[in-house]
Amino acid sequence: MKSPYLGAIPLHWCDACHVPVLGKRCGCGEKTRFVGVTPPGDLRPAFPSDIRLINHLFLESFGSTLIPTDHLAILNKVPDDDRMEEIIVGGAIVGAIRYLPGDGRWEVLPRPDAPLLMTPKLRYVMVDDGAAAFIKDGSSVLAPGVVEIESHTEKGDEVFVLTRDGTCIGVGRAKMGAEEARGITRGQIVRLRKNVPQVCSPGPATWDDAVDANREHLATLEADSITFIRDLAEQEDLPVTVSYSGGKDSLVTLLLALKAIGPVPLLFADTGLEFPETLANISAVVDRYSVPVFRADGESGFWDGFSRQGPPAVNFRWCCKACKLTPVQKLIEREWGECLSLIGQRKYESAKRMKSRRVWRNPNVPNQLSAAPIQHWNALHVWLYLFQEKAPYNTLYEKGLDRIGCYMCPSSDIAHLKMIEEEYPVLWDRWRSAVTEYGEATGRPKNWFESGAWRIKKGGSDDEDSHY
Ligand SMILES: [Zn+2]
Repeated sequence: MKSPYLGAIPLHWCDACHVPVLGKRCGCGEKTRFVGVTPPGDLRPAFPSDIRLINHLFLESFGSTLIPTDHLAILNKVPDDDRMEEIIVGGAIVGAIRYLPGDGRWEVLPRPDAPLLMTPKLRYVMVDDGAAAFIKDGSSVLAPGVVEIESHTEKGDEVFVLTRDGTCIGVGRAKMGAEEARGITRGQIVRLRKNVPQVCSPGPATWDDAVDANREHLATLEADSITFIRDLAEQEDLPVTVSYSGGKDSLVTLLLALKAIGPVPLLFADTGLEFPETLANISAVVDRYSVPVFRADGESGFWDGFSRQGPPAVNFRWCCKACKLTPVQKLIEREWGECLSLIGQRKYESAKRMKSRRVWRNPNVPNQLSAAPIQHWNALHVWLYLFQEKAPYNTLYEKGLDRIGCYMCPSSDIAHLKMIEEEYPVLWDRWRSAVTEYGEATGRPKNWFESGAWRIKKGGSDDEDSHY
């Protein structure tokens, strides 16, 4: 699958501090080393729930957890059929997890550096030293060189290839199970996956250490964004607002606005499809920073649209206009006539946003001049900045959700929607009933909802841009 390039990926590692650094020099003074990850490279910290999931999957597959609790881990979402995330520990990719929507489960794809953090006890193949030399050069694992195939190994499993002393020399997919491989004297046992050699140097650290290591880089970015806001506010002479969604990007945008020009009102498009945590976050932010919030009511617009057009789909997002853009346009009309809105848009989010200018007008909201102070920030900049400022970010992120918006957004991947089904059964049941009822009334197939088919519209067209 094609990986879009949306901007230089700033990830480096300090091997003295064991932390990610978004630049060539660490706060400790040491030079950092570059860490190559798959584009677009919008990186985020692994939160405890992410680490629990990954460790659970590794324990199941390989009999040992991957991420030590006192190490920092970073996740990098990469293009895939549904969802796949690279796992970075010790300044190297040590594995990936991939959701298989057809099977309703996650698959683990380990990397050869993973055994620097864990000892595989299940699903490994041990080879003799004679074979090891060829395997290191990229050859498949052939029957004659195999000393042992761990007994849980089945055909198609991901396996580690180890030497007798337990050193990992490769990873790949088993071409046959342990049972079948036993009587065999020739043939391919494991097809090796090619991996770019990397440096993995694990060690303990905290996110506070990472903040210290990045203070200078964050200050530079912060200064650029503050200047951008000040210059624009001066130049345009319009009332300034911050479009606040309850997500991390809009929170950083608010913090920058407060530093640049002082308290500004928040614009919140309430679709009525928000998570309870998002509403709680808005209250917390309003309290903490003493800013007023103006709510644009999008809920009635949503259900009106639903009764006429059915659920929105990935390629038929009528909802953004109905429950965000139009209500926001009316709210601005009523309150200010026209305003400048600071928006948490970033280029690393999508090709569309990469191509967007830093100041624009959405044709559906002509009375709003929109601007993106954090257009050039990577998600990891955003997170480190929020940690540095001890800002009250939405607790949904700690539950392993990386998209904060309408809970049933069809643009979410299936892995995300499955998590919501498990964590928010009441919300999800409400949505299931509404979609199922609409499906029955309009003659859709019986499994229209459960199969996820409602998310794609036949003959639908391009995505509507939701930023207002
Ligand atoms: Zn350092």
